[in-house]
This record gives sequence, C-alpha cells and structure tokens, in this order.
Amino acid sequence: MTDIKSLTFKQLARMGEQRGWEPYRARQVFLWLWQKDVNSFAEMTNLNKTFRQHLARDFIISHLIPVRTCSSSDGAIKITFRLHDNNLIESVFILDEDRRTICVSTQVGCPVGCRICATGQLGFIRNLQWFEIVEQIQGITRATGIKPTNIVFMGMGEPFLNLSQTLEAVRVINSDWGMKIGARRITISTAGIPQGIRQIARFPLQIRLAISLNATTDEIRSQLMPINRQYPIKQVLKAVKEYHRLTRRRVTFEYVLIDRINNLPEDVLRLSSLLKNIPCKINLIPFNPFPGSPFKSPSPQAVQKFALALYPLLPAVTIRKSKGAKVLAGCGQLAAVTAVRHNKLEPQIG
Ligand code: SF4
Repeated sequence: MTDIKSLTFKQLARMGEQRGWEPYRARQVFLWLWQKDVNSFAEMTNLNKTFRQHLARDFIISHLIPVRTCSSSDGAIKITFRLHDNNLIESVFILDEDRRTICVSTQVGCPVGCRICATGQLGFIRNLQWFEIVEQIQGITRATGIKPTNIVFMGMGEPFLNLSQTLEAVRVINSDWGMKIGARRITISTAGIPQGIRQIARFPLQIRLAISLNATTDEIRSQLMPINRQYPIKQVLKAVKEYHRLTRRRVTFEYVLIDRINNLPEDVLRLSSLLKNIPCKINLIPFNPFPGSPFKSPSPQAVQKFALALYPLLPAVTIRKSKGAKVLAGCGQLAAVTAVRHNKLEPQIG
C-alpha cells in the first residue's frame, strides 16, 4: 500500500482528480496529515465515513520511529529516528526561552566529509525524501508536546546535495496547509556549494541562508572541509554576493572556532577583509568535540577575545552557545549510525 505522506500536495490533488474526489478533499487530507499529524484516517473527522474507508483501503500513514531520546540540562533534546529501511538519523530540539528551534537532517550520513563534524566521518548512505525531513519535526513535536517556532536545516547531511527534496520540505513546513511556519524562521545551512546558493536565491520563499566558512585561507579550509578543493572560498563568496544582489537578504557565516587552527590574530584580519563588502552576520561556534576528533575547542576567554577583535571590523558578530554538546547534540556532533552501532538501540515506546 502507498504511504499517503509520500505524496506531495500536487500529486495528491492530481490523484484525487483522477479518482473523482471533490476539489477541496486533497487540501483537507493534506492538512490532517501535516498540520494535525493524525495517526489514522478515522481521525479525519470532517471527511465522510465512506471517503475515510476508501482512503484506509488504499493507503497507510507512516511515522518515523523514535529509537532514542537524549536530553541535556541546557535545553537540547536529541532524538534518533529509525527510517523505513532501518537507517537512522538524528534531529535536535533546542529550547531557548521563546525560541524553539528544530534542527533537521537532510541525508543519512554526508558525502562532504568535513573533519570538524561527526556526520562527515560516517560517509554517505542516502538522501532523505522530503516527507522524511518534515516527519522529523512531527516526531519531535509529538515526543515533547512542544511546537517549534524555527526550523534549521543544519543536521546530518548537506541540504544543497539534496536540494529538490529539501525545498519540497520547506514548502510543506511553510505552507498554510502544512505547518505554517514563516519562511523567515526557516534557515538552510550549507558547506558552500555555489550552484545551490544561486538556486536558493531564486527560490520564491524568503528563507534564510547560512554558510559554513570556518577558515580564512583555502589551505586551512581544505584541511577542515575537503569540499573547499572543489569550491574555494573565492567562488563561495562570489555566489553569496550574487545571492545578496538578487534577494537583498543578509546571510549568516558560521565560523567554528578551533584552538590554534583558525582562531589566530591573522584570522581576524583575513576574515574581516573577506567579508567586508558582504552584508552579513558572523556566528562564532566554539568547536564541539566528538569521539575520534583531533581538534580542540578554544577556551571561553579565547573565544571572547576573537569575537572582541572581530567586532569593530565587522558589523554583527555573535557567539553561539552550542546547546546539547554533553549529549552529542551540538553542532557537528550528530552521528546516529555510530551511536547505534555501539549501543544496540531498541525502539522506544511512549
Ligand atoms: Fe556534511 Fe555539514 Fe557535516 Fe560538512 S558539516 S560533513 S556538510 S553534515
């Protein structure tokens, strides 16, 4: 039987038309699935009984299966989900006063292989489909009973290497018959793939863009992020300038600070010179260690010193307090496959 949640709104509407449904039915069903997150067709109470029976005969309603939940005292909740093919992914809920952000994955593993990221060490297994991305939000909301205000595509995987499914997920998260989360509250983060940056500039929704920069020279960036050999800093920044010219939106540059690798006084000067003509915000993220990583996080004083040196040179500099690092839910720490290999997880009920 077909999983009805695998159908986009257009596909559902077209199929409904072929089956002779009233035109408004597809929208009603989609709303029950993605806004009200029902488990069964019987719960779709504004549809008549015969129609519900007809749906139940032909379709199933899927959900991701949560296999483990880890909460940290600083307000991060990480959930490992099992997919229909037994692959595992992780998503994180970051609760911060009135901002409730869910960080979703777009791939199982990641082909980009950044050395500062646990996911990058897993290799690539497969792309997620749009509904598997959106179901992470439903799974976390169901498990916690809390609705998110913001969505960030910063979990496992490089969204621009799975762009069509990522953008379909964004449409459903944003749409009135989906989750109704404002486009400006949705951020896609990329390791810096110029063609993806150009494509997103033409996407009609005003979503936000974040670029993982992490170094001020190609030599160091290529060591941290091998993708830099294919798309060096200059090419990435050229695409970002085009993005700004087309959208007038400010981008965020993420800069993971690693002790004595990319936090030198020269880096401050080079960073300000690289970004001086780009309207942007810089998010400094102290490196989150993960098992097997050779890098160290700078001391809080060193992070502060870097930020203070940068601040007069660039307009908006923030230090991101990475929540959830203790339960490996911080930036760059998601690695569901390894976690499960070592822990033999069982599905979690309730
Ligand atoms: Fe992939 Fe992002 Fe990790 Fe790089 S940082 S390996 S792009 S998940």
